[in-house]
Amino acid sequence: MKNMQEMTEEDWKKKLTPEQYQVLRQAGTEAPFTGEFYNNHESGMYKCAACGQELFSSETKFDSGSGWPSFDKPMNREHVELRTDNSLGMERTEVICKNCGSHLGHLFSDGPTETTGDRYCINSCALNFEKK
Ligand code: FE
Repeated sequence: MKNMQEMTEEDWKKKLTPEQYQVLRQAGTEAPFTGEFYNNHESGMYKCAACGQELFSSETKFDSGSGWPSFDKPMNREHVELRTDNSLGMERTEVICKNCGSHLGHLFSDGPTETTGDRYCINSCALNFEKK
């Protein structure tokens, strides 16, 4: 995979849509219930929209009611980086693509308790979906 750490912000602006740039590169959040995937129930793999890294399997997706695609775990813990985010007066855990450093969403601890108890709350526009 290409070394994405060498991409400049100008490169990212050319590669991404304005909405994707705002979410992935400026840690924005898309409006809930507006994205392409929160209600997607097809089988397949969700990949980073910026670099193509495989991030979440449909097998771990669940309906959280939040309006964002929600997963109880990443397909590989090594593919995501977790970082403390103190913005907006809250302490949250930011989820980042480890391959390219792009913002994906946040991790909360109110996921399904019968599995991991985690809720990876991810922006649709930060993901591409590859149907199985
Ligand atoms: Fe990425």
